[in-house]
Amino acid sequence: MQEALLTPYPYAQVALPVPMRTLFDYKIPKAMALRHALQPGMRVKVPFGKGSRLGVIVSFSQTSEWDESQLKSLTSLKDEAPVIPAELMALSEWAARYYHHPIGDVIFHALPVSLRKGENAEFRTENWWFVTEAGQAIDIELLSRAPRQQDFLKAVQQHPNGMSQNAISILGLMPNAGKSLEEKGLVRREQRAFNTAGEKHSHQTQVPPVLNREQTMAMEEILDMRNRFAVALLDGITGSGKTEVFLRVMEKLIAEDKQILVMVPEIGLTPQTFKRFENRLNTNIVLMHSNMTDRERLDAWLLSSSGHAKVIIGTRSAAFVPAANLGMIIIDEEHDASYKQHEGFRYHARDLAIKRAQNLSIPVLLASATPSFESLANALQKRFTWLKLRQRAGNAHIPEMERVDLRGQTLVHGFSEQALQAMKRCLDQREQVLIFLNRRGYAPTLMCHDCGWIASCDHCDVNLTVHKRANKLHCHHCDAQKALIHTCPECQSTELFTVGEGTEQIETQLSPLFKDVPILRIDRDSTQRKSAMTQLTQKIHEHDQAILIGTQMLAKGHHFPNVTLVIIMDADAGLFSADFRGMERTAQLITQVAGRAGRAKKPGHVLLQTYHPDHAAIECLCTLGYEQFALNGLSERKALSLPPFYHQVLIRAESGNEQEAMQLLTKMRLELEPHIPQDISMVGPYTAIIVRKAGQHRALLSLKSSHRAPLHQVTAMMTTWLEQATRQQHKVRYAVDVDPLETY
Ligand code: ADP
Ligand code: ZN
Ligand code: ZN
Repeated sequence: MQEALLTPYPYAQVALPVPMRTLFDYKIPKAMALRHALQPGMRVKVPFGKGSRLGVIVSFSQTSEWDESQLKSLTSLKDEAPVIPAELMALSEWAARYYHHPIGDVIFHALPVSLRKGENAEFRTENWWFVTEAGQAIDIELLSRAPRQQDFLKAVQQHPNGMSQNAISILGLMPNAGKSLEEKGLVRREQRAFNTAGEKHSHQTQVPPVLNREQTMAMEEILDMRNRFAVALLDGITGSGKTEVFLRVMEKLIAEDKQILVMVPEIGLTPQTFKRFENRLNTNIVLMHSNMTDRERLDAWLLSSSGHAKVIIGTRSAAFVPAANLGMIIIDEEHDASYKQHEGFRYHARDLAIKRAQNLSIPVLLASATPSFESLANALQKRFTWLKLRQRAGNAHIPEMERVDLRGQTLVHGFSEQALQAMKRCLDQREQVLIFLNRRGYAPTLMCHDCGWIASCDHCDVNLTVHKRANKLHCHHCDAQKALIHTCPECQSTELFTVGEGTEQIETQLSPLFKDVPILRIDRDSTQRKSAMTQLTQKIHEHDQAILIGTQMLAKGHHFPNVTLVIIMDADAGLFSADFRGMERTAQLITQVAGRAGRAKKPGHVLLQTYHPDHAAIECLCTLGYEQFALNGLSERKALSLPPFYHQVLIRAESGNEQEAMQLLTKMRLELEPHIPQDISMVGPYTAIIVRKAGQHRALLSLKSSHRAPLHQVTAMMTTWLEQATRQQHKVRYAVDVDPLETY
């Protein structure tokens, strides 16, 4: 009699981390099929080329279109259970199709690094120590000659449920003493899975505030969405208590033993969010972001996928974290551009999360004070439930926004007289000023007074930024760095001077003006070290008086109760951007930064320095607010057939050579044009605004359509063409950008 096969298929289709839009067929060896029930989502070792690779099984088949003799067999099986559950396999396959990205790359992106490298999907184990019956019965004084053993035994006697190695170390006990006791039969050791979540004994410390009417209504609407797919847009001005609303919703879901994935746009916000949640939710919370070690990430991933962790707080890549019993996905600051990956697999975590929620029949909650035009359009069309919070929670007031006309004014270090006076008053009242300038470094340009030479990057078509403190010239586009020079390389003159201001310069120049006031700069340079951001926020909370100077990092979600004045140095930045999203971004930034003022009991004030006080968009934003600004912006987008009313795909190409990228896209357009339907509007190829970046010359082709289906057809046709073409001409690289956020 024949033994039954646990895997009743002869072939498996395997995804490999290679840049090909295809799966690979392998034979399943008989011995493997007899012993294991293979499933999609399990990792396998396979022969590939001359070596071997780790792959993930996607599907099985009874037949293969390849000739039997050409097919190789799976080498070995890595997992006894899928590392990617069916739900995430489906999501990955959808994402590969939607973003026209190689499936293998998508699937490997979904895995934590250590699993990509082939490590076991297992918790690390640690020693647990237990007292034996003999150990419990013994007279502890018998060990008086071995005080370390005595201490050790006393401790385990007091913990009848055992003590983890971690607890042993925290108490300063000696593992060697434990080993001696073990030899005497007084204690025993057990290997247990290390999952810190299991040890959590939380204590709810904070009493939650009483929700106001708007918050209560929002909470009830969201709770009504449980157990089905729905998207809620929680559109609440800064400080309106959005976080408070989702904390309430989370409490309810946790009580039903469900997990919640909370996405935040930036690593810098994770500790703050973690702390706030920890103080309120009596449950296990884990963090997932790129500043953790591979092992820490794997532990968090395992805690989530096993269901141990009830709340998972993470950045973009957390969209792919498996969760045994996911009940809701929350996306905080949903408008933030960092949810979109800008290279390689160019997915948008918000859109992916919505798709995932749809597959799982669970709700998604998008929160923002400045919703993206995409989400607002969905809310207007009633695809999303629009929940508005228009009052600040507690006693806080909405800050007043005032434009300062810079025309014809003499500026002191970039500040108007009015701004300087306001700063003095604010600091005199022992309150804090926040200065917003979205440009880090000392100055954006270094120039020669005698010959007009400008320091520029060798690899990009941009000027180098001066960083005085680091004594460097730095390219903010490719990260290239050089030592700061003091002699012009063209004419040897020593008359070099800087043009324009960055945060570092403002910091340097304000300190003599405000001698005893702490000045804290918050930008990518000052927060590079791991705990720098936490230390800076601590300092901000310690002082009453302070000047905070920062870039967009400051705009995101932080709560600084003593900030009462916000100065926006340059409200015009982005006003005349080449990108049609320039205005939307500027308005979001200004509104978010302005929202840092007066979040507690003291009223706030915002000054916008501008050379265009009458510009319609700035005026609308200051007088009518973000919602009206966005509604106007949306009608403009509609009139101009722009996203979100039209869908867009960008085909990007780049080459080291000046012409090749452009030539490739031109050739593609010529060849494919006859097959492109009328309702697709095609523009380009055109060169990127910064043509050369990191040594690559960049060309773009834009496709637009009011319907997605034909757009996807054309994109698929183009990717196939490009995949073929670049096989011969591999000096050109290409990328497909579906729903691009940057179009230049
Ligand atoms: P958002 O997420 O909209 O910026 P938060 O939820 O962080 O707002 O709330 C802002 C501040 O107001 C926090 O300190 C919060 O504890 C407090 N708060 C929120 N809701 C209430 C309420 N109903 N009553 C009093 N204080 C509240
Ligand atoms: Zn010169
Ligand atoms: Zn550069």
